[in-house]
Amino acid sequence: MSPPDTELLEQLHHLHEASPQMVALFDAQDRLRYANPAFMSAFHAEADGQTSWMSLMRANLAAGRGNIVRTADHQAWLAAAASRRGKLPFRAFEADLHDGRWIWMCETVDDRGWMLCVASDITHLRQDGRALRQERDLALRAAQTDALTGISNRAHVLHQLEQGLQRVREQGAQLAVVLLDLDHFKRINDSLGHEAGDQVIRDFARRLQQSSRRADGCGRYGGEEFMLLLCDVSAAEAQSIVERLLAQTRSARPLPQRPDFAYSSSAGLCMARPGDSIEQVCHRADMALYAAKAAGRDRCALAAGDDAQP
Ligand code: GH3
Ligand code: MG
Ligand code: MG
Repeated sequence: MSPPDTELLEQLHHLHEASPQMVALFDAQDRLRYANPAFMSAFHAEADGQTSWMSLMRANLAAGRGNIVRTADHQAWLAAAASRRGKLPFRAFEADLHDGRWIWMCETVDDRGWMLCVASDITHLRQDGRALRQERDLALRAAQTDALTGISNRAHVLHQLEQGLQRVREQGAQLAVVLLDLDHFKRINDSLGHEAGDQVIRDFARRLQQSSRRADGCGRYGGEEFMLLLCDVSAAEAQSIVERLLAQTRSARPLPQRPDFAYSSSAGLCMARPGDSIEQVCHRADMALYAAKAAGRDRCALAAGDDAQP
């Protein structure tokens, strides 16, 4: 291809002068031969034909401007950067500027050693990325959270149960699985209204969460049904944790508009066994819950076989 004519060069120059992209040309001795206004202001450069890349960088490092260098030893950094500079026909990298911008720098080197530098401001891309990550985290949290109570939802607590069962299987860990169901909840809704029912559900969720430690899990399993997962406890220890929760629930007065109102919960507890599936362990806990209801409610029943364990 023949070299561009003067008119095209002038047009190119005109656009470079106006562009927010940072454009610079270094010769084979690495002296700055051209810099557009955007480059000059970002790197405090003068394209006087004398300033070398090294002296420009050294002055910027000393004055705390241009790109941010995250090392105290500027001399070593300059030496390392100089040894990499211009060795490849093309390279591109990210850099932080002291003025707060984030740039994407592209360096093109020809066979005579001249280098064209073109840098774009990509600050907004980083911000978009951060916003995207934050939105993803929020969406993930929302997908795991029960909207009424703020504790884990059914899907998330079942996921925790799956992980717990894996530890039981692979490490012989102990895991107590507890299903809890509020007593006579239909009556609460019927006599005090659905909103009061919701307040009671929230009160119980808060107590449930307070009775579980960091390694434990708990969640809203269904309408007024909850699951509690207690790690590294025997059946007897789990039972006493659940009974404490039931006692606190019994003495709670969650409705300010009805200071005399009290409620209770029943619980079914079973110990996970190596090889248990989610269905098997939930079935045994559910049978125990049924037994607690049948025995008069407001109590914790152990699944058959678990009551004999220490
Ligand atoms: P039991 O002691 O045998 O558990 O009796 P119960 O009345 O609690 O019986 P059941 O568990 O079958 O009834 C649960 C009721 O909970 C039925 C449903 O209307 C109500 N419920 C389910 N989800 C919600 C909710 O999100 N808010 C409110 N206020 N009520 C709910
Ligand atoms: Mg129920
Ligand atoms: Mg109920």
